[in-house]
Amino acid sequence: MANKNVTWHEGLPQDQRQEMTGQRGCVLWFTGLSGSGKSTIARRVEQWLLNSGALAYALDGDNLRMGLNEDLGFLAQDREENIRRVGEVAKLFADATVMVTCSFISPYRADRAAIRAKLPEGAFVEIFVDTPLEVCESRDPKGLYQKAREGVIPNFTGISAPYEAPENPEIRLLTTEHDVDACAEQVITWLVQQGFGS
Ligand code: ADP
Repeated sequence: MANKNVTWHEGLPQDQRQEMTGQRGCVLWFTGLSGSGKSTIARRVEQWLLNSGALAYALDGDNLRMGLNEDLGFLAQDREENIRRVGEVAKLFADATVMVTCSFISPYRADRAAIRAKLPEGAFVEIFVDTPLEVCESRDPKGLYQKAREGVIPNFTGISAPYEAPENPEIRLLTTEHDVDACAEQVITWLVQQGFGS
């Protein structure tokens, strides 16, 4: 460990920070196959929260893999590190009382569990965007499945790499039965029920 000599400065107690910003932070962790609808629904949730006056921010592959994680690929070890860093960033946002959405395939249960374990009780909300592979593949919004089937993209989740579905997610979204707005509403309703906002 390289950071043994770091001096810690006492931070503002969490309850005081929450009182000052008027909200409780949380990590809304969207997991599911590529094309399942994670980013689309998360952005809708972010928009809804911002419209209602809450401080929210969406993290996804677009803003993380282009910057902080640009050195990482898609092999198991890199995926693990990608998710670990995202988790650390999300934790900081939540600590700052932001409601942060994270849209990442995050195929491994252990990686998701590790992030949950680092956050305060109740702050990690696992949202399983439960869309069958055939539906994701037929949507193929970025043409990635076709490339994966052709072998152009190796280690593609659902095709040539595993996806470990959540066993006990806080929220399960069925995008084949409900449209984007209804899925976003399901998340918002859950948050309100849990006392995250009004
Ligand atoms: P992911 O972030 O999981 O890779 P995206 O959100 O980028 O997936 O893409 C999902 C695609 O599926 C979008 O083109 C979206 O419009 C479409 N879609 C159709 N129905 C739904 C739904 N009910 N919820 C979310 N996305 C849906």
